Amino acid sequence: MRRILQINRSGTPFREFYAALILTRMLTDRPIGYVDLRSPAGVGIGALVYNYDGCVFASDEGRMLAETGDNTFRLGHVNEDDYTSLILSDRLIEAVSSSLTQCAPECSTCAFESHCGADPVYHHATQGDTLGIKPLSAFCARQKGIMTLLLDILENSPEDASIMRRWA
Ligand code: SF4
Repeated sequence: MRRILQINRSGTPFREFYAALILTRMLTDRPIGYVDLRSPAGVGIGALVYNYDGCVFASDEGRMLAETGDNTFRLGHVNEDDYTSLILSDRLIEAVSSSLTQCAPECSTCAFESHCGADPVYHHATQGDTLGIKPLSAFCARQKGIMTLLLDILENSPEDASIMRRWA
């Protein structure tokens, strides 16, 4: 981030993509369309992924997980299931209902909750739990780290803060 902000200060506009997504969440009311920064998570309800073999998944990461033999996020097949049965499948309802940060342990009392989201596929893949154990989650650690850094810059570095506001 220091290097990227230095490039911007020297006159070349250059956005750090993930920071820009988080800043848009923090500083504006515009939707960012990023499925892992929503509550409930955007799996299935923000995207359906149709694989080359006709299988339909709740997300691209869910499709990739299936390549390892784990079909947890396979919602159905294009020859057998219509949109309604995919979107109302028990698997999707389970994934979406366990991804509400407003009532998830740790998230519900977290200062960053309103700017954060859930990543049920990542937490299932790494912890075997779609809800996720946030104190042990690299997703959570990354979110806390990035948001702490961005807020520190916004609060204490006016020149860099004005660059970051433009990213949003
Ligand atoms: S930073 Fe971690 S604890 Fe806080 S809302 Fe995000 S995932 Fe939950």
